Amino acid sequence: MTDRYDPAAIEKKWQQKWAADRLYEVHDDDPRPKYYALTMFPYTSGDLHIGHWYPMAPSDMHARYRRMRGYNVLHPMGFDAFGLPAENAAIRRGIHPFKWTMDNIANMRRQLKSLGAIYDWSREIITCLPDYYQWTQWFFLKLYEAGLAYRAKAPVNWCPKCQTVLANEQVVGEGLCERCDTPVVHRDLEQWFFRITRYADELLEFEGIDWPERIKTMQRNWIGKSYGTEISFGLDVPGVADKEIRVFTTRPDTVYGVTFMVLAPEHPLVDRLTTPDNKAAVDAYVAKSRKLNEIERLSTEKEKDGVFTGSYCVNRLNGKKVPIWIADYVLLSYGTGAVMAVPAHDERDFAFARKYDLPIPVVITPPDWDGKELEAAYIEPGNMVNSGRFDGTPSTDGIEAVSAYLEEKGWGKRTVSYRLRDWLISRQRYWGAPIPVVFCAKCGEVAVPEEDLPVLLPEDAEFKPTGESPLKYNEQFVNTTCPRCGGPARRETDTMDSFVCSSWYYLRYVSPHYAEAAFDPDKAKLWCPVDFYSGGAEHAVMHLLYVRFFTKAIRDLGIIDFGEPFLRLFNQGHIISGHQKMSKSRGNVVNPDAYVAELGADVVRAYLMFIGPWEQGGEWDDSGIGGVSRWLGRVWRLALEGYAPGKTAAADETALARATHQTIKKVTEDIERIHFNTMLAALMGFTNRLNGAREQRTISKDVWDHSIRTLLLLLAPSCPHIAEELWQRLGYDYSIHDQNWPEWDEALIKEEEITLVVQVNGKVRDKVLVPAAITENEARKVAVAQPKVIAHIGGKRILNTIYVPGKLVNIVVK
Ligand SMILES: [Zn+2]
Ligand SMILES: [Zn+2]
Repeated sequence: MTDRYDPAAIEKKWQQKWAADRLYEVHDDDPRPKYYALTMFPYTSGDLHIGHWYPMAPSDMHARYRRMRGYNVLHPMGFDAFGLPAENAAIRRGIHPFKWTMDNIANMRRQLKSLGAIYDWSREIITCLPDYYQWTQWFFLKLYEAGLAYRAKAPVNWCPKCQTVLANEQVVGEGLCERCDTPVVHRDLEQWFFRITRYADELLEFEGIDWPERIKTMQRNWIGKSYGTEISFGLDVPGVADKEIRVFTTRPDTVYGVTFMVLAPEHPLVDRLTTPDNKAAVDAYVAKSRKLNEIERLSTEKEKDGVFTGSYCVNRLNGKKVPIWIADYVLLSYGTGAVMAVPAHDERDFAFARKYDLPIPVVITPPDWDGKELEAAYIEPGNMVNSGRFDGTPSTDGIEAVSAYLEEKGWGKRTVSYRLRDWLISRQRYWGAPIPVVFCAKCGEVAVPEEDLPVLLPEDAEFKPTGESPLKYNEQFVNTTCPRCGGPARRETDTMDSFVCSSWYYLRYVSPHYAEAAFDPDKAKLWCPVDFYSGGAEHAVMHLLYVRFFTKAIRDLGIIDFGEPFLRLFNQGHIISGHQKMSKSRGNVVNPDAYVAELGADVVRAYLMFIGPWEQGGEWDDSGIGGVSRWLGRVWRLALEGYAPGKTAAADETALARATHQTIKKVTEDIERIHFNTMLAALMGFTNRLNGAREQRTISKDVWDHSIRTLLLLLAPSCPHIAEELWQRLGYDYSIHDQNWPEWDEALIKEEEITLVVQVNGKVRDKVLVPAAITENEARKVAVAQPKVIAHIGGKRILNTIYVPGKLVNIVVK
């Protein structure tokens, strides 16, 4: 009698042995071809729930499969440890962020080890430790030297609850903070930026990388490239040095219809252009618009309003005076912060002109236009009218013609515009890598020299957010000497967005202990870029965009020689529970620990892969995981309860061999296509097939052993512990995880056909071609369905059916 399948008894044992034998340690000098499989590293805000395991377990299976396919696989793990969520959680609990983070890491590491993954823990990285963030600071210096990091005053997104600025990418939905859902407000602040806009065009190219269409589209939309024309309007206002206002438009064909100009309320010219009798109204409007965020300002629900500044500019094309207004639906951060208003051919301008009784001259004719005033804006193409030299030109040609004329006259130029803004990377928070810059009264802004890195984050600092960087109040940190003149200087007290840390982490894994540089260049040459990257689609226009920018920027600095970090990207779906996304606030979080303790890591792993297509996710369900557990129990008994062959039948042996090879093919192809759920279904089907063969006892011990051996090999990446245990108990050489992936024989897979003889009462009545692998049940069904057979059965009662496998069916009737 064999013992019962008891995961608790075998999983710990194998994890310890694999660790003691350093089975999964990755060697750079391994002669096999490299394969770098990376999963987005987890954020250290607390426990890992089952949703966190969902990216990990299937990706570990995939990496293990590559390993068995003969690759030297790097599949590292680490922790994204700086940033707001960990800091906020620490503050809520009254614990220092460092202690909170490191305690979380210890727990998460324990959880991840219980998963039985092939992570080489000697390569672990933690972004909040000085030996890591020293290099984050070093990269900052490199970007700074290249002019790709700069400080500027700008209207920025401010989260009143998190008490810090946010990048545009961190403002989600209706203008809410991505972390805490608080409505974001605008402030004008001196901040640090990375010049991601310089790479806007290159970031639109996805040549040579295999990324989901959805992510590419999101990035393209976020970058928002549009072609248009910049037009200069003349300015001649006493006391104002500026002699023009430039606008960006995609409709230069309508320029003769401009009847007013609109500036963003925060446009630098507003103050100077406002005449004394309009000042009170303008000031009040500016103050009011400051209280609104971008989303509120652009909302289609909101009625468009504005005020007149009292000044005019000139439309150079027709010499007309154009009144200059301000309105909050114009944003300084988009285009030039000024918009030419053509009310006849723009819905928003039309409503605005109606409200303030501004003229609405038609310059593009609607079909059958009778020369009367328009009832609504006409935005379709037509012929140009009231447009001087362009009268009669089709508006679609007018775009080109007007642009060319403007360029010829020096009044404008064809240009492109982007929605993408530079990446705001400074945060007024404690828990981040300090920005390595000092301010000297004599020298100004001075970068900390490389050899003085790291600029250590002081542990004894007050860390509660106040709206300014908490480091400002830490005298020991702030006061320093200027590296250039040796005089007194003050340190920059803002810290870096944690997305900076994760923009280069894939490089650190190749040589995590390298002290001379951020990474060993030879090792980076060996391993990079990453072959397969998996993680959540929610990172589409944050991490996944930043890391591409960062990679291109440091390539241009000669630090690496490739421009895309991840050759293939895969986004998994979500595990939900109770039909909802798991979250602590909903109270529907599934903790993997209890399931691992009760059913085993192999069962949890397999269930996560079986629950649905990986890119879609699925609903966590206790009865579903029970089914997976029972399946592994059947595998256990099948392998260990022994097999006693009876009289063997060649046809049955061939049929089982065929089923075995078909399973190898199906499992292999499903893993390649990332169809892990159907891969497991195929293994379950094969298990049933073997159970049937075991009862029939018509195959030899050799064929049986080969099939069981194959089942274990195919199971090894998904369920590494039970596969190793059974492998050892059946007397094979340790370790199953060092074995080659089985190959299939295409010729063997082809269904062979046999001739099935059908008798009625012992007399041959028909012969039918059937698949050789036909089961008894199927053979009976085929037999009684033949017309000749039906004729001989007539209305008689079937007493018995005798089946000789692979040969005949004899139907006994009376
Ligand atoms: Zn917030
Ligand atoms: Zn100085």
